[in-house]
Amino acid sequence: MPSNRRWVLASRPTGTPCLENFRLVETPLTAPADGEVLLKTLYLSVDPYMRARMKNVRSYAPPFDIGEVIEGGVTGEIVESRHPQFKKGDFATARLGWQDYALAKGERLRKLPPDKSLLSASLGVLGMTGLTAYFALKEIGQPKAGETVVISGAAGAVGYVAGQIAKIKGARTVGIAGSDEKTKFLTKDCGFDAAINYKTAGNIRKALKETCPNGIHVYFDNVGGPISDAAITLLALKARVIICGQISLYNLEMPAEGPRNLAYLLVNRARMEGFLIHDYEARFEEGLADLHQWLKEGKLLNRETVTQGLEKAPQAFLGLFEGKNIGKQIVKVS
Ligand code: NAP
Repeated sequence: MPSNRRWVLASRPTGTPCLENFRLVETPLTAPADGEVLLKTLYLSVDPYMRARMKNVRSYAPPFDIGEVIEGGVTGEIVESRHPQFKKGDFATARLGWQDYALAKGERLRKLPPDKSLLSASLGVLGMTGLTAYFALKEIGQPKAGETVVISGAAGAVGYVAGQIAKIKGARTVGIAGSDEKTKFLTKDCGFDAAINYKTAGNIRKALKETCPNGIHVYFDNVGGPISDAAITLLALKARVIICGQISLYNLEMPAEGPRNLAYLLVNRARMEGFLIHDYEARFEEGLADLHQWLKEGKLLNRETVTQGLEKAPQAFLGLFEGKNIGKQIVKVS
């Protein structure tokens, strides 16, 4: 049996996380028991929500313990199986961890088609982040043809898929992202109607007002903070605000004050609703069928930023807070 390298939580971060919060350890591998499989990690996912799990605070997911493997989405190949539904050579995905191999109960795994070209996509456009974009728009945003949809964190894993789906639904789509390379990617590659670089735009409210002359009908919020403060002041009548993520606030030690501008919701009879992808697990197949179809038809573009090597997983994670990724940030392990 080979040994297993795994990233564990070494310490809890104060403010922005750093490399010292992680430790790479090596442990012996054991053979699977009845009902288990041994999965070799091919790709793993790094996601902003992991920052919340590094704190010792109970949220919708429990905190990581010190010394515990960093749990996250993994796609891999079964190398040994003692579960009737899996055989050696099958591909599968599950929430396992930043490690070379994982022992897992078969029930925790979702089997993947043998198409190797879509394996990493099972962590992105055909995985948790693509499904987040899909269900948040379908159930809360409900964009209609001609409406204006504004997306913050637009060039990231959830945002670029959300914008493309809004376009498929016939909406006008405006993205907000942190570099000219990203705004170009949104308008040239993903078909967004407009994109704003929030780092160079100056007055973000003014820039949004110019690009959304009829107001914002759907605001898909991935970042919170000043960008969202500005967007809320421009809501149209009966607008829908999706609270999907608040990455600009994740590294704050004290909770941010606000929002103070909720009168804009009152005046416009607008709705703001929190969204959590885990509530939709029973409906994943429905979302995957549409996302797959759009990919096949060329209506949906898949974009990933791939970092090579398990040893680089913490760097890839930390890069999310510096805007280093375009599309889904993936780590290729094997
Ligand atoms: P992502 O957008 O691929 O990566 C994070 C991006 O956030 C960075 O590339 C960076 O892009 C931007 N960012 C970082 N710090 C920022 C700041 N201070 N202000 C503004 N933008 C900042 O991540 P993702 O996986 O798609 O997730 C997006 C959001 O959705 C996150 O908040 C995440 O927690 C949330 N999420 C929620 C659910 C759910 O079920 N509710 C599921 C998945 C994800 P720039 O270069 O543009 O700054």
